[in-house]
Parts: sequence; C-alpha cells; structure tokens
Amino acid sequence: MTVDEREPRQPIGRFRFMDQQRVNLDGFAVEDASLGLIAFDSPADPQPSLSIVDGRVVEMDFRAAAQFDIIDTFISVHGLDLGVAAEAMAIDNLAFARMIVDLGTSRAEVVRLAAGMTPAKLAQVLALLRPAELVIAMTKCRARRTPSNQAHVTNRSDDPLLLAADAATAAAFGFREIETTVPVLGDAPSNAIAVSIGAAVASRGILVQCSVEEALELEMGMRGLVSYAETVSLYGTEQIFIDGDDTPWSKAFLTSAYASRGIKMRVTSGGGAEALMGSAEGRSMFYLEARCVALARAIGSQGVQNGGIDSASVAGAVPGGVRSLMAENLMVMLRNLEACTGNDALMSESDVRRTSRTHPIFIGGSDFICSGFGSIQRYDNMFGPSQWNAEDIDDFLAMQRDWGVDGGLRTAAEPHVAALRQRAVEAVRDVYRILGLGDFTEAWMAQAVDAAGSKDVPDADLMTPLTASRLIRDTNVTMLDVVLALDEAGYEIEAERLLDMLHARVHGDYLQTAAIFTEDMEVLSLVTDPNDYAGPGTGYVPTPQRQAEIDAIRQERSVEDLRVEQGSYRSAALTAVGPATAGHDPRDVVIGLSPAAGRAIWRTLSGLTVTQALDELLAGLEEEGCVGRIVRVNDTIDLGLIGLTAARMAGSGIGIGLQAKGTALIHRRDLTPLANLELYSVAPSLTRASYRQMGINAGRHAKGATPEPERNPYSDEAIEARYHTTVVSLVAIERQWCGPTARPELMSLEGVAP
Ligand code: CA
Repeated sequence: MTVDEREPRQPIGRFRFMDQQRVNLDGFAVEDASLGLIAFDSPADPQPSLSIVDGRVVEMDFRAAAQFDIIDTFISVHGLDLGVAAEAMAIDNLAFARMIVDLGTSRAEVVRLAAGMTPAKLAQVLALLRPAELVIAMTKCRARRTPSNQAHVTNRSDDPLLLAADAATAAAFGFREIETTVPVLGDAPSNAIAVSIGAAVASRGILVQCSVEEALELEMGMRGLVSYAETVSLYGTEQIFIDGDDTPWSKAFLTSAYASRGIKMRVTSGGGAEALMGSAEGRSMFYLEARCVALARAIGSQGVQNGGIDSASVAGAVPGGVRSLMAENLMVMLRNLEACTGNDALMSESDVRRTSRTHPIFIGGSDFICSGFGSIQRYDNMFGPSQWNAEDIDDFLAMQRDWGVDGGLRTAAEPHVAALRQRAVEAVRDVYRILGLGDFTEAWMAQAVDAAGSKDVPDADLMTPLTASRLIRDTNVTMLDVVLALDEAGYEIEAERLLDMLHARVHGDYLQTAAIFTEDMEVLSLVTDPNDYAGPGTGYVPTPQRQAEIDAIRQERSVEDLRVEQGSYRSAALTAVGPATAGHDPRDVVIGLSPAAGRAIWRTLSGLTVTQALDELLAGLEEEGCVGRIVRVNDTIDLGLIGLTAARMAGSGIGIGLQAKGTALIHRRDLTPLANLELYSVAPSLTRASYRQMGINAGRHAKGATPEPERNPYSDEAIEARYHTTVVSLVAIERQWCGPTARPELMSLEGVAP
C-alpha cells in the first residue's frame, strides 16, 4: 500500500481541540520579501546614506537624486534637517538605539538627531530595539506628557439621535477625540453635527472628525462641522500614490488647507498597506513606513495615525509584525509628531493576541493609545470592528486599574450616562427642528436613549440623515447656525462649548503638535505639556483626582456593600434556641454551622440560602434513617474544626461542617481537623442535589458504610477571580462573630424540630 492509498489519519484529539481555538481563525503568512511580507530588514531595503552638496541632497539611501521617485524627492527637499544630517548619519546605529532608550539622554536630543536621519537609517535603528525597550522608548519619546484616547462613534443607520447619545457616552468615558464616519457618504454632514452636539453635551473640548472622501471632509471642516482631520493617507511606494491619483504635493496642499482654517490634522499610514495593495517593491513593511513617516514630517502634518491601521492584520501575519507596528509608532514620536498609535482595526480573532498587541503601548503610554477605540458595539462600527470595542470598555478600565496607568478612559456611572444620553437626544431633536433638518418620534428618541446599539432602534428613519445632510449643504448650515439653534432651544452650555471650539480655531493653539483640550479648554500639547520622562519619579503621573477615576471602577465592592447585600436575604427561619450538648443516639448526625450563619450571612456563594442547603442536608440524612441536629460553632471559623466539633457532639460520631458561604465537609470524631472524610470545596458550584448527596453520604458514614465520594462538578469558570474578593469579605464577617470562649448553640430551623 502506498502512502496515497492510506486513509487520511485524523489528527489526535489534542490537536483537534487546539484547532478549534479562535486564534486559528487568523491568517499567518510565510515570510516572503518579494511580496513585501516581511516586517523588518528585507534584502531589498537600501542601506542608509546621505550626500549633501551645496545644501542639496544629491544622494539618499543609496539612490542618486536623478533616480529619486516622488517620495524621495519630497523627503530630500522638505523632510530632513540638513543642519544636523551629517552628525546624525555618522552615529552608529546601535549607539543611537541606545540613546533612544538611555534615560540620561533627553528626548529633545534624540529628536534633534532623528530629524537628520534618512528613512533607511531610522528603520535600521528602530529594528534593533527589543520589545521592552520599545516600551521605555515610547514612555520617553511621545510628544505629550498626558496620554489620551480616541473613540469611534458610528452606527449602521447613521441615526443622528443614536450618534449623539453615543458621542456623549464616549465623552463620559473619557475619550478626548471622537471619529465618526458613514456607511452612506451622503449622510456625512448630519453625522458630524450629531456627534458634535452629543460630545458637547458631555464635555468641553472634545475634538470631532468625520472621516470621508477628502473634498467633502475638508468642506465640513471649513463649515466648522468638524474640528480635526486624520485620514489623509500616505504610502511608502510611488506606484500607490499614482494609483490613487495623488502625489506628496497634493497631500501637502490638503494639509495646508486644513491648517489655514485652524483645523488640527494628521495623516494616516501603516505597515503592510503596500503589500496589501501589491506594490511593496520587495521592501520591508517597516522601511516603507519609515518613508511615510518622513513624508508626514515633510508635508507639515501635526501627527500620524499609524501602526498598521487597515493593514494591521497583514503586519500581524508575519514574524515580528506586531513588534514592527509598535516601532512604527515610536518612529512618529522620534520625528517629533503626534502619535495616534493604531490599535484601531481588529487584527486578530483572539482576545489574547489583540491584548498582546495593545498592551505594551497601553503601559508605555501614547498621545492616543487607540487611533479608534470602538466605543460603540462591533456591529455598529462602520470602520469595521476595532481592536477594542464597547464590548471591552470594562476590560480596558480594569486593565487601567490593574496597572495603575492612564489609558485615557474613566469609569462613568450609569445614571450620569443615562441623563447625558437623554439630553443629547433632545438637543439633536431641537436643533434639527429649528434648522428644519428633520423630525423625530418620541418612540425613536426613547429607543436611542436606551439603545446599546442600532439594532435597538427599529424606529429610526433611514432617510432622515440623508435629507438632513442635503439640507445642510444646500442651505449652507455652519457650526455657528448649530450654536445659535442650541442657544435658542435653551442649551446654553452646549452652545458655549461648540462656540469655544470655533474660537479655538481662530487662536490656533491646538495646531501645535499633539494638542488636545482639557475639560477646562486648556490646550495640552508638545508646547504646553511636553513629555519630560527621564526615569523613575519623572514624567506623567496622574493627579490624585485622575488616579481616583482610574482606581474606582463601578464593579468594586467593600465589606460593607457585601454586608448590606447579605442583609437583604435575612431570614428568621434559623434561630438559636440554647446551648448545644453532646448526643448519644447512634443515628444522631450534627451539622456544624460557622459563627456568622444566620446572623450576618444568609446566602451561600452558589446563590442558595443557608437554610436551603440545610434543608437538603437534613433530607439526605433522613433518607438514610439518620437525624440531623444543627449546631452553630462559635469559637472558630476553620471549617475542619467546625466539622470536627460537630462530629464530637454527634451520637454517631459523624458531623457535617457548613460555612455560611456554602463550603462543606463531612468529619468523624476520631480524625484530626485537617483529615476529613469528604470535602465540598467549590462552594459556588454546589447545588441542592450536592447538599442532598452530602446528607446521604454523611448518613452512610454514620451507619459504618463507605459511600462513593462526590466529585466537584466540571467547571472552567475562573472560580477564584469570581469569588475570592467576596470570600475575603465573608471571612472578615465570620471573624467578627467568632469568640474564643463562645459556646456552641443548638439551632432551630423553621419546620424542623431542633
Ligand atoms: Ca482614527
């Protein structure tokens, strides 16, 4: 028999099981430099070089000026600080890599030298940094001291009410930039206005963009409907510029157009884009991105949104790709630009991989950790699902708390968010009515306030945003008209906030690198809030107020919270009737309770009450012809000792120990405290049936039989994560009721004779 004739052998169970895990939905590519499927150091990447004659670059990265493509040409003329170039290019790669990480070398010095380095030089230098060094470098080299975060706010219906409610929600959770877009291009102006109003309901100083086709986006900027732009795309090879009917000069013109109207703008690039578009020229993703970042500097952009972006999963598919995404962000920082550090497009089906990709940036801190955290549900994200989404906000907040770091978000209380959403929805209704843009039904409004996503708003009229947008453009509605309408409808605070933003555009302070506004409308930027990290004890530290926001997540519980919760299950069914004495009946089995049972704790971790557990234990004993007596043991909280005390008081010599939290064991009077007969340790998963079986087994032990021990049920829950904090509190409560000389008490359970 040849190999081909054999039945194909099925993989063994372990591999069938592993194949089912979500990470195996991801695509992984064999490294292939010819296709640009290589993160760093392709054989086709040029060696760094720079020749300057009479103040002009005549050769760069081993290419003579006569052979320059449009990208080389633009970078060589506008992108390099020729005053420092000779010094910078002469520095050994490893020496400069060490300067980047060295806490004794200032950020300013590193940035000064990087300005004179060619794309190939910086690409080689940053390829030398190990992951932990990238974290330190990012901590040191980002422009702004205070980290921040950007949200996506979109929905499938372009529903203005839901957009406003979700923008207010995003602002409440701490996002300082909000990016919207459209599934239907014609809806864009309505979306921009709705998001701006919603953001203004929640906070001053939220920057808003609407990412659409470049001409329309600029038009909306000029009308004041948006306050920043981010999606001017750059590429690392000439062919892709040509395919897109663009040049570096056209992009520079667009950049200047935004700046001239006082609109903050940054460009978008990201490793893997050229490979995805089939025009990587055999170069590595990182080298091509180095060209993009140099170009961004050259065209006068304030910053760069990079780190893969739409092609993050392409970079993620090759060896070292995720490291290169972070190195891209660092390169932006070294070029002294604002870094919007990707983590926007979802790059993996695996929660572990996507967390792994974000986490180093999260702890290092960046100008914007995510260049688009999907603050709405995945299905409503019209950019496609983000790396982080509404599904993950609580995870992100918990991560901030775990590490004590500022990822730009904060906990928002439900009543606060509910009120903001109501006000945002009403404000949009009133503005649209006053400007004649559209009407909304009460049912639609109520749905939008409550909705977790657009699926919860069936009454949304899909034509409303399209009609409103047409009217906005036809009648030349500007943000000033929106401000006046808000004022007329009584939303003076929101009117003021949007007017403040128009004022800010005239001042232009937020055109400084890495500018955001605080809630007091102060500009934080490279100029007013420069990053001064130089090792432990320096750099950004959250204020006490900000640290409290990070630490106080809504899920945290104190012992007092738990005591109040237990009090709601208080029952008079279980009461003490007097001192307990030893029994002599061989059918007598004693159930020993912990000190707080029936005093301060009435409910076990499984959700059963203590009396329900007792009912089942007693019934199980009865099935075996035994009689259970309930005794509260008051001088110990140790379950083994409680069980042993019970066993010693029992005529049969068999006792059951039951802690109020539900953990239980069966004991015999002649054993040591730790050597029990059966232990039911996983209290959260115990059921009525488990306690019944325990009663039966205790009865059989009393009769001298050897029952088959109960096994803990199958479970893959993080039992300890779920319950250990509660257990700490419950133990503290037990301790309060425990006294070294307190005697055991006989208990009566309603309906059962003591
Ligand atoms: Ca973005």
